Amino acid sequence: MLHDALKKWFGFDSFKDGQEAIISSVLNQTNTLGILPTGSGKSLCYQLPTYINQKPTLIVSPLISLMDDQVMQMKLNGETSVSCVHSGMDEQERQFNLSKIKSSRFIFLSPEFLLQPFNIKLLNHLDLGLIVLDEAHCLSEWGYDFRPHYALIGKITRQFPQATILALTATAQPYLLNDINHMLNTKFTEIKTTMNRDNISLSHLNFDNDEGKLSWLLEFIQHSGPTIIYVSSKKICLTLAQAIYKEGYLTGIYHGDLTYQERHTVQHQFINNEIPIIVATSAFGMGINKKDIRTIIHFHLPTSPSSYMQEIGRAGRDGEMSQAISLYQPDDSFLLETLLFTDSITEDDITLFESGDLIDPIKLEMLTILNDYYSLNELITIFNTAYQRKQIAYKKMIGYKMLDSCRRQFLLNYFGEHDITKPVNCCDNDSELKNLAIYNRKKVKRKMNYNEKLQNLFN
Ligand code: ADP
Ligand code: MG
Repeated sequence: MLHDALKKWFGFDSFKDGQEAIISSVLNQTNTLGILPTGSGKSLCYQLPTYINQKPTLIVSPLISLMDDQVMQMKLNGETSVSCVHSGMDEQERQFNLSKIKSSRFIFLSPEFLLQPFNIKLLNHLDLGLIVLDEAHCLSEWGYDFRPHYALIGKITRQFPQATILALTATAQPYLLNDINHMLNTKFTEIKTTMNRDNISLSHLNFDNDEGKLSWLLEFIQHSGPTIIYVSSKKICLTLAQAIYKEGYLTGIYHGDLTYQERHTVQHQFINNEIPIIVATSAFGMGINKKDIRTIIHFHLPTSPSSYMQEIGRAGRDGEMSQAISLYQPDDSFLLETLLFTDSITEDDITLFESGDLIDPIKLEMLTILNDYYSLNELITIFNTAYQRKQIAYKKMIGYKMLDSCRRQFLLNYFGEHDITKPVNCCDNDSELKNLAIYNRKKVKRKMNYNEKLQNLFN
């Protein structure tokens, strides 16, 4: 029966691993946490039940680019009953989408939008069948890049007791299930396959300094195919892109301080192979549906195995061989620790908040929002736990640089996976890895100087 529906609505002959189990669970009205690797077809896990049940589905998404991408994919598949509202839209588009909500089959909204009292009224009369929490690992990522509204999502789901909830992610630590049970005050059933991605080889290189990294990088990107270079600082994002451009390659930058339009443009240039290389912070990539990304280079290690798995998972969605290479030099740990802990909310912040003395405006806003839902004692526990988790995750990630055993095993063990079949091109500690050889054409023409111009005239 499910296979017929799959064929009818999507034209596919078979389910990918995990899809059928998740869809059956949802159709059984069981709140479900689905953990499937990147590119394994998570969207279909909510789309098919929506078609079968013929009731509207609300998709709560953490990122604008993610919403845009999914809406575009759906439209390409011929689905027009979609509305989506986010802060990157102009007023006209926003109004148009708002008016479409009532009659849409798929409704994409951000947690920030939903939690404004006026907006939730827009949904009041809908007979939602399903609520999807996409990229659900964001729910329990408290701290530095923390989205307080996402943590309050229980307020929304409570209003729709008849709707089944489906949380989806590619990376989940064992504690995610508990966290979301707690946040949404319900019981989820977890369905997971492996987080392993067989077609991505793993390697790591240590250097003495950034110059060493850079000269390796400029050589390497000649033949790395479509490539994302991840960096941990916006400043380095720019200087690195400039160095790559100077070397003759078209490249773009992507980080959180760019405008929506700027991000949109560079993302599309990359997706359409107009630029082979993008230099980005972790803000880039979630929901980017470019299937032929061949190489992910981490100029800086990320601060957790979870981020690492997410970021390298953007490679090779077409199933072809791809490579993930991380770089490290001793000064990096300072940068990473600053990044990780500077903006964390501490117990002291919460005490200052209680007495009305907290000065940091970002923390103040975050705590004000959260305190509406969680008591101060609960918040202390939440942030202490978050701090400990961050530390453990960071130490684990930093351990990667000195690792002399299997990298895949090391990463997957962290997520509670122990029974691992290693692919042929596993990692630099396990196999003789051959680098890919897909040439990135140099495209930037150097400006000619006067003598060169003269020569050109006479040649
Ligand atoms: P994820 O969210 O898990 O990263 P997506 O939902 O974006 O992955 O799906 C990745 C690709 O897989 C899409 O192009 C989608 O059309 C395709 N896909 C999904 N399910 C199937 C299936 N059963 N058979 C073949 N292709 C599928
Ligand atoms: Mg997805």
